[in-house]
Amino acid sequence: MPQLKGRVAIVTGGNGGIGLGMARGLAKAGARMVVAARDPEKSAAAVRELSALGAEALAIAVDVADERSVEALVAAAVERCGRLDILVNNAGINIRKPVQDLALAEWRQVIDVNLTSAFLCARAAHPHMKRAGGGKIINIGSMLSLFGASFAPAYGASKGGIVQLTRSLAVAWAADNIQVNAVLPGWIDTELTRQARRDVAGLNERVLARSPSGRWGSSEDFEGIAVFLGSAASAFVTGAAIPVDGGYSSMA
Ligand code: NDP
Repeated sequence: MPQLKGRVAIVTGGNGGIGLGMARGLAKAGARMVVAARDPEKSAAAVRELSALGAEALAIAVDVADERSVEALVAAAVERCGRLDILVNNAGINIRKPVQDLALAEWRQVIDVNLTSAFLCARAAHPHMKRAGGGKIINIGSMLSLFGASFAPAYGASKGGIVQLTRSLAVAWAADNIQVNAVLPGWIDTELTRQARRDVAGLNERVLARSPSGRWGSSEDFEGIAVFLGSAASAFVTGAAIPVDGGYSSMA
């Protein structure tokens, strides 16, 4: 594994699920971790877990959909840790409804938390990364960056947007030595999908039947990709959207 000693990473939504998996990978590689989410108890538990791995870790509360809150997060992280090298835009929500039943406020909430947040966090991080001579931004998409689903119109739009935002940022900031990539998770066992499994009859069976690897992904499956995309190992990789899906998106 590449080493990230001396590097500072912010992971939004880093207090659970895929975000905590990525934070674990970065922490094991030696990065100093900033867990950025809303729930203080979950964040404190994540900080304890990352500290137990030997990493320096701290939590900063943020609502990623709120411009001022995001700016305060990045300013506080740089003030407390001295620099910012890696940003993982992972925080996300879904509101499962057919498009004809979705209220405008619900549409906006999903777009704000999943997509606008990545723009706000990246924009706030950019001057610090540029000053340091480079940086790494990892945006979390979804299989719904690629496919449509009747129950997730706003979620799909936000995750399709994440891939295009990734490409725009990658092109814009390549000259600043900032690499920007997207990770597209398949079906991963987290709180988000546990709720979906409760709500949607037969989902578990459909996912297993459709997955070449024959299993749900786990948060551990994101440790390696976080270190790869967060380190010099990916110095010439930018603007990519990499599925971490056990082959789900490759199977006809
Ligand atoms: P979880 O529900 O387990 O985690 C979501 C995280 O986002 C939590 O840590 C939550 O923390 C944080 N969060 C939500 N809203 C906000 C907000 N407004 N401000 C700050 N933090 C917020 O979900 P997953 O781990 O499954 O999902 C993580 C990412 O991966 C999401 O972007 C999701 O869309 C994506 N993804 C997940 C898949 C899966 O199968 N699980 C598949 C494809 C994509 P808190 O509540 O404390 O704020």
